[in-house]
Amino acid sequence: MPYLQLAIPSPLRRLFDYRPPQGCSPESLRPGVRVKVPFGRREVTGVLIRVTEHTEVPPDKLKAAIAVLDETPPMPESILKLARWAGNYYQHPLGDALSQALPVLLRKGDPCEYAHQHLWRATADADISQLGKTAARQRELLLLLLEHPNGISEDAIRAEGGQTTLLKKLTDKALAESFIHKPDHGHHDNQPLHEAPLTLNAEQQQAVHAIITADGFKTFLLQGVTGSGKTEVYLQAIEHFIRQGKQALILVPEIGLTPQTVARFKARFNLPVVVLHSNLTDRQRLDAWLQAREGVARIIIGTRSAIFTPLKFPGVIFIDEEHDTSFKQQDGFRYNARDLAVMRGNFEQIPVVLGTATPAIESLYNAQQGRYQWLKLNQRAGNALPPKFELLDIRQLPLQDGLSAPLVQQIKDHLKQGTQVLIFLNRRGFAPTLMCHDCGWLADCNRCDAHMTLHRKPFHLHCHHCDSQRPVPTTCNSCGSTELKPVGAGTERTEEALQKLFPGFPVIRVDRDTTQRKNAMQQIMDRVHQGLPCILIGTQMLAKGHHFPKVTLVAILNADSGLFSADFRGMERTAQLILQVAGRAGRADHPGKVVMQTHHADHPTITSLVTEGYQAFAQQELSQRIAAHLPPSMHCAMFRAEARHPGMAERALRKLRDLLEPDILQPQGIQWLGPLPSPMEKRAGLFRAQLVLQSRDRKALHQQLQNIIREAEGDPEARKVRWSVDVDPVDML
Ligand SMILES: [Zn+2]
Ligand SMILES: [Zn+2]
Ligand SMILES: [Zn+2]
Repeated sequence: MPYLQLAIPSPLRRLFDYRPPQGCSPESLRPGVRVKVPFGRREVTGVLIRVTEHTEVPPDKLKAAIAVLDETPPMPESILKLARWAGNYYQHPLGDALSQALPVLLRKGDPCEYAHQHLWRATADADISQLGKTAARQRELLLLLLEHPNGISEDAIRAEGGQTTLLKKLTDKALAESFIHKPDHGHHDNQPLHEAPLTLNAEQQQAVHAIITADGFKTFLLQGVTGSGKTEVYLQAIEHFIRQGKQALILVPEIGLTPQTVARFKARFNLPVVVLHSNLTDRQRLDAWLQAREGVARIIIGTRSAIFTPLKFPGVIFIDEEHDTSFKQQDGFRYNARDLAVMRGNFEQIPVVLGTATPAIESLYNAQQGRYQWLKLNQRAGNALPPKFELLDIRQLPLQDGLSAPLVQQIKDHLKQGTQVLIFLNRRGFAPTLMCHDCGWLADCNRCDAHMTLHRKPFHLHCHHCDSQRPVPTTCNSCGSTELKPVGAGTERTEEALQKLFPGFPVIRVDRDTTQRKNAMQQIMDRVHQGLPCILIGTQMLAKGHHFPKVTLVAILNADSGLFSADFRGMERTAQLILQVAGRAGRADHPGKVVMQTHHADHPTITSLVTEGYQAFAQQELSQRIAAHLPPSMHCAMFRAEARHPGMAERALRKLRDLLEPDILQPQGIQWLGPLPSPMEKRAGLFRAQLVLQSRDRKALHQQLQNIIREAEGDPEARKVRWSVDVDPVDML
């Protein structure tokens, strides 16, 4: 008797066997179809991996599946393959990996089909003269319907001021009818463009040519300085694939997916563009996913998880801002969408383009090793000049709420000239912490090894690591003194200081606290784009996606923040951020200036970044990593464990290491680092430890990871802690 072998979303790294549901002939089932099954006390949706004749499960333990949900698998073969590959590579349970590759509604077992959207239209022989003069509202409504021969939804009718309550009257008079909308399958291929493409310079032409003649799988690193017209290269390369009847998938970082980005694509292409972002409802997401799968949507723009969007006619994949760490999922299924894109390109035999002004050191390494073809755009469009950098040595200078006197003077000068100023401070809140002036006590989080951030509006203490909040104490916890002082400056404090210093100019703060409301960011941008002189102060939200053509001065208040990070990528991140922030200024006719406040004006890393640019900095960084045997010259994986009591996580990891040590000493060249307490040992009430494995031999490393996971799953000690494995970790903390 045949059995169904299913992948089921659960932490268990195995498949599960079931008897077929009643009346089902398993021979006809295709791998990839969803099957609803009882699992523990719940009902879950699994994915069929294969039909098998044998099972190890004793017959009395074997349950019957409840129902087969699909005739054809929702995920095409290629995506199934990608998700399986990813589960395997990132050492994540297959059932959960497959489940996460599906839209939420399909995970829940909903039918794999479009929403039945009801639309209204005028009937074919509707005649407006049938409506008498007294029925003015009905006439208005009918006119509205006549303007929308393809149908209009009730929501849209209301938005246009029409009265949906009158639809029934029109229906009774055979003037209006409702129908079920099917997404547009029309062909726009004859006229795919709304607007003519821009003229390319020689570098851009070469880049477009390389991408469109790739012929099958190839990975490109497209490194273009800010203002070099990277997006125009994307658009013209995409046009080529569109004209061949294919689709393009564009991944952008969460924070970079702005209305401006999307508008640029919609303005260029006279084709269905779908956007997969976090504000979509599950229903909208499934519809967009289906449009991509059926080839209706020709351009798909989305964030990390969009890498699993099926394409009927795969043409090309772009990863914009490829260095951005948001492409790596940091919990659960820890995949990296950028790296998966390269694998997907290989499976689907299409080109993959990684675009950025500041490549990740990994990508740079791959380009230098010849694994990626390196395309460079060094020329800025028009006559735009690169921003001029100035290091402002603040070693002897007093800082007033984060600002030095020479910087305040420069801000004044630029505002007087009628331009805008952008101030970058990657720390939100009023102050990084609160300190007792008498005894030095600091307001620490009870659940983390971290200080609590002081917020002014509303007045409270907030831990940015575990999100816990508490009222601000009036007396010191340790000595009872009332002399509690905020230490250091966050965006809220510097905003207040700027308001006092420049009362005649608007100060606009952009951070997570000021942009939570829907459309808040858009309103801020509209205000800034009016072009009047103002001061923008904000965190990295300012660095990505948005352009500020009127900004002529960019000030980076704390340029040193990455220099002494416990994460070896700390300086790389800071350099990328600085360059991105700097790139917001100095567009077209306004040359820009970037002032960096630093306590380390003679540090070689800072000076090389400022005087020679990102490329020189990155090269130096890469040589140092190779010398120190760090990624990307080594493959890396990290075991993390967390437990309620100190020492437990570390002990569990040590035991695993000891169990396997004899194997490790074999000539596989695997290095162990740890186990050690994590740099922030206590977080959200849990004590954490980590064990890093490194090797030049990826296969040996993965073999060893599997051994450890097997041990960990069988070890009672390990089962008492929460452990996880992170392959190619990007966050080492
Ligand atoms: Zn005190
Ligand atoms: Zn906060
Ligand atoms: Zn905390």
